[in-house]
Order: sequence, then structure tokens, then C-alpha cells
Amino acid sequence: MDIQDFKLQLQQIVSDVGFSSFGITNPSKVDHSVKENFMNFIKNDWNAGMDWLEKRVNERTAPENLWSSVKSILVFTDDYTPAENPLKKLKEKEVSNFSVFATKRDYHKVVKSKLRIVASWIKKKIDCDLKIFVDTAPVLEKPLAQLSGLGWQGKHTNLVSKNMGNWFFLGVMYIDKLLPVDEPEKDFCGSCTKCLDICPTNAFEGPYKLDARKCIAYLTVEHKGAIDKELRSSIGNRVFGCDDCLAICPWNKFAKLTRNVNYRDRFSNLSLEEALRLSDAEFRKFFSGTAIKRLGSTRFLRNIIYAMGNSGKKEYIELLEDYVNHSIYFISEAAEWAISELKK
Ligand code: SF4
Repeated sequence: MDIQDFKLQLQQIVSDVGFSSFGITNPSKVDHSVKENFMNFIKNDWNAGMDWLEKRVNERTAPENLWSSVKSILVFTDDYTPAENPLKKLKEKEVSNFSVFATKRDYHKVVKSKLRIVASWIKKKIDCDLKIFVDTAPVLEKPLAQLSGLGWQGKHTNLVSKNMGNWFFLGVMYIDKLLPVDEPEKDFCGSCTKCLDICPTNAFEGPYKLDARKCIAYLTVEHKGAIDKELRSSIGNRVFGCDDCLAICPWNKFAKLTRNVNYRDRFSNLSLEEALRLSDAEFRKFFSGTAIKRLGSTRFLRNIIYAMGNSGKKEYIELLEDYVNHSIYFISEAAEWAISELKK
């Protein structure tokens, strides 16, 4: 099959499975700056002890070290643009605030199932071997997406697209055939610094430099144990992730509401009081199929208690007193802290 015909047909399949776009690059385009930026992130401890990021650096920063046969890299976007700007919800202090992506079906499963359909179509069309990845291997998805022309890594370090703003997931496919590549996307941040300025915990050391140790997404989702008292008040009612730097980006005005049925909200408006009362079994049932389930009910409880402490609602004090003698130290300590905040 003519390679340009192949690309045109692939475009149709990609759209039929529900991906919003795809682009192609090859391993030789991954230059030394990708490794330098990544090593700088690790050297400064901005990975916040997420030690899996320090492992397999050579594979992560050079695709051919992960799979020596790779000749081309395809990157796919799966958009989940919400109907409303999530910043609005932060004002409702009695409601749990979740990062938009987390209120949907877990994207790992959705993106992987779509990639499998595309992979099987490709294998029928051309004689090839390929591998698919959705956050499952040492792959630097964002630089690869920029090299494939899908967007650019904005000053908040996430990918931004002129068509989809900030609301999309990435899936990656390595293939052992040379395919025509797309032009890398340029950086269109210009003089804007909105994402850096809005960050509640000042997690940016500068443009394109995120210290995960201060990032609310890291603190509420990945961090184990107690969260630094200095940062707790800035977390507000964010109980799983944070979207502020994404939501403020002016490029979102070009994003259209997702047509992806998998990314419809699975729940909405869970009050802090209801969330506090969820048993472990209820927690697992309520968040079944979402990324939140992986957090576990104990760390979720910790985040809910911090949010109550930040709410200014004195009526929560009585509820929180039940947790002061909790057997897990960071829950009892959180309850004491929250009560003292509400008594101020
Ligand atoms: S908010 Fe501004 S600086 Fe940040 S990613 Fe968007 S355009 Fe770039």
C-alpha cells in the first residue's frame, strides 16, 4: 500500500475509534534537550521521591533504548474537555473538588482499548511489529507529542494544543516501519504566565519548571502520609488533583466539549460530609472504574479532612472529633489540625 494512502486511511480509523488527532515522529528527532530537561527535573528532586521516574532513564529519554526496532512513533490524543470551567467549583467550600480527568472512566483503559483497535488495523494493512503505551512504560509522552506536531509543552509543563487547549490524554505507539513524519509544533505561550501565576502552592520554579513536591496533584494523589502543614491551607477543597494551571490557559477557548462517551462524568457534587462518611467498601464502589479508586480510602479520608479544615465551616468540628483518636497517625493528626483551623 502507498504510504500516503495508508496515512489517509489511518486518519479515518483514528477518528472512527474516537481519538481526536494523531501525529508521527521518529526516534532520531528526540534530541539531547529532552534528556537534559528530564535530568534537570530529577537532579533538583522535583520528582518528589517518585523513584520510578529515576529508573530506566536511558529508555525513557531514547525510544530505541526501550525497543531497538522502533523506526516511527505515533502519538494519539483523546480529548475530555469539560462542559464547565472547573475553577468555578473551587468556591463551593462544602463540596469535594476533583481534577476533571478523575471524574471520568479511568483513561488508561479507554486509551489502551482504542490503541488496540488501531494497532490491529495497522497490522492488517502493513507487515510490521508494534508496541502500545499508556503511562505503562518509560516513555516521555509529552516531548514525543510535541515532536509529532500535536501541541507544545506549555510553561505549566503539560501539553497544550491550539485546537483542544489542555484537555486531552495521550497514547503512544512504537512501530518498526518508517512512516512519513509530521512537523513538530512550535511553542505558542508567548509572554503569557497565567498558569504560573495561578498556582496555589507556587509549585513552579519558573517557566517549564515544576517542582512536584509542591504540586497539589502530586500531594493529593501520590504523597503518602501527612502533607506539609505549610501547604495544606493552599489545597483548599481539592481532594484529588488540581486543574488550576490547565483551566486558566487561554488556549482552552478553542476546545470543544468532548464527544467521548467514556469521558462523561461518573459522579458530581459529592459533599465533604458525604465523602467523610464513606466506608472503605463504599469508597471502592463509589469510585469504581475511576483513577480515584487507586488512591485508597485512607488517603482519600486524609484529603477530605484537610478540605474540611480549609472550609471555614465550624459545624464540621463535631464530625471531625470522631477522627482525633484514629489509629492511623496522619488521620488523627489531620483531624486535630482541621479542628484547630476551624476554631481560629
Ligand atoms: S497559561 Fe499561558 S503560559 Fe501557561 S501553558 Fe497556557 S499559554 Fe502557556
